Amino acid sequence: MTCPQANENSQGSTDFGRLPERKPASGITVLIIGAGVGGLLACLECWRQGHDVRIVERSASRMQSGDGFTIGSSALRAFRNWPEMEDEEDRIAMNMWVSWHKINGEKISGPGPFELHAGNVKDDTVEPPKVHRHSRPKFHKMLSKQVERTGTTIEYGKRVKSYFENIQTNKAGVILDDGNIIEADVVIAADGVGSKSSQVTMGHEIRARPTGYSIYRAAFPVELALSDPVVAERFQVLENGKFVAEMWMGDGVHAMFARSEDEMSWALNYPDREVGIESWSALVDPKTVLKTTANIPGWADVADRVIKATPKEHLHDFKLMWREPQPCWTSSGGRVVQIGDAAHTFLPSSGNGGTQAIEDAISLAACLHIAGKDNAPWATRVHNKLRFERVACLQKLGVVNHELRNRSSNADVSQTMPVGLLGSWIWSHDPERYAIDNYGKVLAHLKNGTPFQSTNIPPGHVYKPWTIDELLQAKESGKEIELDGDWD
Ligand SMILES: Cc1cc2nc3c(=O)[nH]c(=O)nc-3n(C[C@H](O)[C@H](O)[C@H](O)COP(=O)(O)OP(=O)(O)OC[C@H]3O[C@@H](n4cnc5c(N)ncnc54)[C@H](O)[C@@H]3O)c2cc1C
Repeated sequence: MTCPQANENSQGSTDFGRLPERKPASGITVLIIGAGVGGLLACLECWRQGHDVRIVERSASRMQSGDGFTIGSSALRAFRNWPEMEDEEDRIAMNMWVSWHKINGEKISGPGPFELHAGNVKDDTVEPPKVHRHSRPKFHKMLSKQVERTGTTIEYGKRVKSYFENIQTNKAGVILDDGNIIEADVVIAADGVGSKSSQVTMGHEIRARPTGYSIYRAAFPVELALSDPVVAERFQVLENGKFVAEMWMGDGVHAMFARSEDEMSWALNYPDREVGIESWSALVDPKTVLKTTANIPGWADVADRVIKATPKEHLHDFKLMWREPQPCWTSSGGRVVQIGDAAHTFLPSSGNGGTQAIEDAISLAACLHIAGKDNAPWATRVHNKLRFERVACLQKLGVVNHELRNRSSNADVSQTMPVGLLGSWIWSHDPERYAIDNYGKVLAHLKNGTPFQSTNIPPGHVYKPWTIDELLQAKESGKEIELDGDWD
């Protein structure tokens, strides 16, 4: 696998725009499975750290689907290393504020900046938090274009059937659907929910079970929504030029409606006792959604008007599933490593799926750089240890916030605000710096058992393994889910 150096592609052209300085070649060959947010960022960061990278994706072409997600400061900071992308990220981010509402649409508070709910900015040497809401397809396009600018080709139409590693040859690899085999020093499984790599990390598939909720999600051209005057009147641009994401909260349901310059997006989280499928491609007719909203007491007409304006091919029904935190993201020989949703899934209420996939990518590429080719398997294990407790804390927050948002529509807004979603331990984290500062300590911990305490988790929190059952039992018996330490 060869990869061109900065400013030179395989055709010898120099038309790559502004690329970051690339570190000297590490000699480590890296194969990435999945060109989602995690895989694409891993491709870029591995390139920047001097690794020899290749990326394959099962889809026939770049994916256009999905609505919006939020990306936080800890991930956005990474774009400073990518000047072209830093400009583009800022340009395509939705220029959005947020307001809070009862489930009948009545306003409780806002609108104000997302960052308004940030935890105390305790250290004024750290720049304040940013939260950018993005259209997933646009964000994805930006990352894919940047990968191409490095001279790396995203190999579409290659579906991985299984993963393997060979301790004797010091290689790992994948078998594709067509029987072809691809090998590398390190294989990064960035193939999302239900990754085939679990067979080599856990020895079995990771069990998922229904939360009892599903989420209808849609994003479509804004003019289709605004052609209804009632919708146009409700979703106006603020005087300061900002658009508003309205968060509606009720008993067992919560919803979000957001209008940007060119897109209307909405999501409705509702109780769903049927066993459905966890898929971003499952479509649903707006008429089916209207049957659900007909049973929501007080549901506002304007919301139904937005639903009616939604084209069927833009409307998804996504089953929300629980998965226990999985501490092991690497194969026994350390040559296969999972990142992003393949390693840890989040409920949308955590607002962290994209951000944590990006943090993983940065951390892993940096660990491989520090370790060097001969120690690459240690890099993946150190990365796993550096990241696991942080991610498990964020998964726990997703459960807490999921419960809070489904509280009574009469609740005080302070009781329904996301907990700790913008605690400074989340947004001020720098995954590359953290890897550099802690690599040696974690390596000593793994090799010799010397103590290591994570510092990328809530201050004062001592991580204890938890299970979904424990959290749900606490909820059933009316107890608050324990969040010791400073999560805000
Ligand atoms: C089509 C789609 C739409 C989404 N829409 C939203 C949304 O609207 N809102 C939101 O919050 N989150 C959405 N997500 C999830 C969100 O993008 C992720 O939670 C987050 O970005 C973490 O990214 P990831 O790279 O770990 O996983 P993903 O973004 O899921 O990427 C995984 C990639 O791996 C590829 N892949 C899977 N299996 C194989 C295989 N066997 N061989 C080769 N390639 C494989 C997939 O095609 C995909 O490109 C969506 C994901 C997908 C795939």
